[in-house]
Order: sequence, then C-alpha cells, then structure tokens
Amino acid sequence: MSKKTPLRQCISCGTMKSKKEMVRILKKKSGEISVDATGRENGRGAYICTESNCLMNIRRSKGLERSFKMRVNEEDYERLTKELDAIRDNKRRQENI
Ligand SMILES: [Zn+2]
Repeated sequence: MSKKTPLRQCISCGTMKSKKEMVRILKKKSGEISVDATGRENGRGAYICTESNCLMNIRRSKGLERSFKMRVNEEDYERLTKELDAIRDNKRRQENI
C-alpha cells in the first residue's frame, strides 16, 4: 500500500516537495509574519524549502509580499531567516542521531 504524500509548492523556486522538506510561513490574523514550526497554526500560510536559498531569493524578489498581499519589512525577513536557520539546525541534529 502506498501512502501518498501531499506535496506543497515552494513560493520561491516553485518546486513541489513534501511538507517535511518545507517550512510554512504564516501570516497571523494580527498581520505578524512568522515561521509556523508546527504547521498547524491558523492563518494564511505559504510554503518554502527548508534547505537552499529560497528565503533569500524571495527576499530579493518580494515573493512574500505577493503571497500575503502586504508589506514585509526587513525586520520580518531577518526574523524569518533566523527562525528558518534554527529549524534547519534542529533537523540536521535530528538526522544525525
Ligand atoms: Zn524552494
């Protein structure tokens, strides 16, 4: 029996990947943007590759602005970058065990 993995499309590079390989960036009702580590928070979400430079690329191309139809300032991107780094570190650590 094959279990079908739902795929999500990266808003930066357009690649389809399983949710495990991606992070969900969330726009909360308050308008705050953050990385949704659980993937279960309410709000409008956009998926982006955990590995690779996709966050850096959408920062340059203003991809998040387009997805969320709002202004995303430099501080938001700085925070997202840090949150994504932390998630990536965590994943690496788990995979190395
Ligand atoms: Zn990507």
